[in-house]
Amino acid sequence: MSETERARAAIVTDVAGAVEVRDYDLPRPGPGEFLLAVELCGMCGTDAHIYRGRLASVHFPALLGHEIVGRLAALGEGVTADHAGRPVRVGDRVGVFPALSCGRCYECTVRGRPGSCPDRRPSYGFASPADRPPYLTGGFATHLYASNAGTVFYRTDLAPEVAVLQEPLSVALHGVERAGVRIGSTVVVQGTGAIGLMAVVAARTAGAARIVAVGGPAARLALAAALGADEVVDLDRVPDPATRRTAVFDALGGGADAVIGTAGSPESFAEALGLVADGGVLAELGNFTDRGSIPFNPYADLLKRDITIAGVYGAGPDMQRRYHTALTVLGRGGLPLDQLVSHRMPLSRAREALEALGGGYSLDGSDVVKLAIDPTA
Ligand SMILES: [Zn+2]
Ligand SMILES: [Zn+2]
Repeated sequence: MSETERARAAIVTDVAGAVEVRDYDLPRPGPGEFLLAVELCGMCGTDAHIYRGRLASVHFPALLGHEIVGRLAALGEGVTADHAGRPVRVGDRVGVFPALSCGRCYECTVRGRPGSCPDRRPSYGFASPADRPPYLTGGFATHLYASNAGTVFYRTDLAPEVAVLQEPLSVALHGVERAGVRIGSTVVVQGTGAIGLMAVVAARTAGAARIVAVGGPAARLALAAALGADEVVDLDRVPDPATRRTAVFDALGGGADAVIGTAGSPESFAEALGLVADGGVLAELGNFTDRGSIPFNPYADLLKRDITIAGVYGAGPDMQRRYHTALTVLGRGGLPLDQLVSHRMPLSRAREALEALGGGYSLDGSDVVKLAIDPTA
């Protein structure tokens, strides 16, 4: 990095407010710290929720972005290897694990739930406010200052638009694990956004024999098929839930061993329940925020059918393992994973991207699958 180079970051000034691109000095990383030149940072539903002020722990102005891929720009003393022990040098591409826990306490070591660590510090992309040091602690910026010594990162040779899928895939892996998908399982993936598409990949990797993806629009369904779905059911062409259920049952010869719900409304949860075979599992990922309630009959909907309902909150409190696994799965190749990021947006358009994610899911005349901020654009 040159002496005169400066960093730029897209700062959300207030709840659903203006996003300003601000300038910063490049920090010199201390022992155990590093500086990353961000290549791409995925934008996900959580960013849209924070932007709308729905996460009380984040204060404004805020620098968001936690799906961070970039090249090491400067290494503090002692940073010589990634978390898997592979040597690193300036210029290497890495994916950064955003969450920061102590790694020593009862929750971290015994319960294996570092997400519940009492010494947990705000994750990158969640630290706030952004107008106080250490600055540059989120991915919607030209540089990330990994100011917490011991930040977990992994070297990767994957293209940035593939490596940036680490988080959505780790969420999908959580869902597929909780759904108990195994060799020969029949699976319904409900919803074909980024998480749903990654769930298709995860279910295929786990050994599913037959996968039906229910969603839309057509471009996403084509991608679902290319990623491993055997059949797709288009919401636009089959708008009636009862007819959709018949289509799914026809495709699978009955209900599914596992349903991965990523659609995200109470009504879609009820529909997903009806797609589970007796004895099967519904893993619900989609209702990530409170969107209301539905009628539920414990006898008819649950006991009599001997089914299991698993609540799957993001990549889980033990997400670190899944982050690493996700990178390994993404590295297998052979799939059009580079087509998931549908829109690469410059810092100056971060607000438009946040608005699109929270609303119409359409930008520049095309449907959004996955948005990412490209600070080099
Ligand atoms: Zn995310
Ligand atoms: Zn801990």
